[in-house]
Amino acid sequence: MMAIVYIFVAILGLCVGSFLNVLIYRVPNQMSIIKPDSHCPNCKKKLKWWHNIPVLSWLCLGGRCAYCRTPISPRYIMVEILNMVLWLGCALVFWKINIVLAISMMIGCSILITIAFIDFEHKYIPDRFQIALLIVGILCAIFDPVWGWASHVIGLFVGGGVLLLFYGLGFLLYKKEALGFGDVKLMAVCGLILGWQSVLVALFFGAILGAIGCLIMRAISKDGKGEYAFAPYLALGVILAMFFGADIVAIYLGLF
Ligand SMILES: [Zn+2]
Repeated sequence: MMAIVYIFVAILGLCVGSFLNVLIYRVPNQMSIIKPDSHCPNCKKKLKWWHNIPVLSWLCLGGRCAYCRTPISPRYIMVEILNMVLWLGCALVFWKINIVLAISMMIGCSILITIAFIDFEHKYIPDRFQIALLIVGILCAIFDPVWGWASHVIGLFVGGGVLLLFYGLGFLLYKKEALGFGDVKLMAVCGLILGWQSVLVALFFGAILGAIGCLIMRAISKDGKGEYAFAPYLALGVILAMFFGADIVAIYLGLF
């Protein structure tokens, strides 16, 4: 029975991943999500339905537009596969606990992928995705049988509070916005999704990955300056905490 669920989740995960690509491309460019139909950004030709099959179309066309042969970013196939893998992970880990929780976590992962890619490229997080995460957070707080809703409400203040502290410190030290306010809001809503125990794990991973990421970005950028997106690392930290937070907290508490 569960095998059918996993196959269904994998296929749906790929299709939703394909839709995330539409969001990542269109939302920052102020384009409608529904209209026009999918088209090549280079030759503007409308794509046929068989050009839009997740992963398969990209592979069959050799990662190029069917008409003008312009290379299509490997980001498309990456997002689709990443979304499928995370959806399968959610089904494996959360389905047996609570189906609503599993579906909430799947949607949460998809929104985090979208935020990570948009922030990486455009250096901002659209508010509509923060609101969507807030709704996911409310569902997680209601349907969490492990830590209960209070943990999630405290998580909202812990996640948002820690980032707000760094936001304020950045202002004092550098006299400018060292951290985007979008990152503060992001960790508040992710705190609601995770609960305060796991959001600490997410902050820990987010900070370490962010530091490594900034060093790499600085090394490969020409002038060594510029703005770095922090949300991709925070999102990765949150996803790690979703799956391993409870275990990490248990191991940590076991040390004492
Ligand atoms: Zn084209």
